[in-house]
Amino acid sequence: MRVGVLALQGDVAEHLRMLETCGVEAAEVRTPDELRGVEGLVLPGGESTTIWRLLHRYGLAQPLRDLADQDFPLFATCAGTIVAARSVVGDHPPGLGLLDVIVERNAYGRQRESFETEIEVPEVAGDPVKVAFIRAPVIVEVGSAVRVLATNGGRPVVVRQGQILAATCHPEIRGDHRLHRYFVERVIPRPWAFAS
Ligand code: GLN
Repeated sequence: MRVGVLALQGDVAEHLRMLETCGVEAAEVRTPDELRGVEGLVLPGGESTTIWRLLHRYGLAQPLRDLADQDFPLFATCAGTIVAARSVVGDHPPGLGLLDVIVERNAYGRQRESFETEIEVPEVAGDPVKVAFIRAPVIVEVGSAVRVLATNGGRPVVVRQGQILAATCHPEIRGDHRLHRYFVERVIPRPWAFAS
């Protein structure tokens, strides 16, 4: 299986490494052609306005919307979740409208702007998952098709809408690959792939 990481800006190398740990071939994606060559895509954290601008400059925004319409698997993290959102509070380019959530950027208070923590994800076996929140957004509203997989301080921090998995935190920098494994094993596989 070949899984891509959107490689325009942000935590690209860390996600590639995590995917490789999960035993899949990991590939950088910067062009519509490269996008068509992968079975799922990670939208990394970084700077959402920059990623949004480059997505349009590289002609990837519309192909990504078209693929998402066909249930293409996506794993959005932090800034990637802002880019994928239906709507962003305040002065920011609109999200791509792939994921039915409203997000607010940099919405953690000053002292807690960045912190490491562990989150309980009942669908992920074992101990709580180690993540980092780095100037993270907050999901302030979720649509009815969105399932909350984990919360922190009462706020949704990992959500799933069909083939889209999204986290407001960084799951790639503390050596815990279980959310990537969940994406590879439980989000990417399509029901018909198992049909006899
Ligand atoms: N604060 C960043 C933004 O709004 C997101 C931070 C991140 O991805 N770690 O784009």
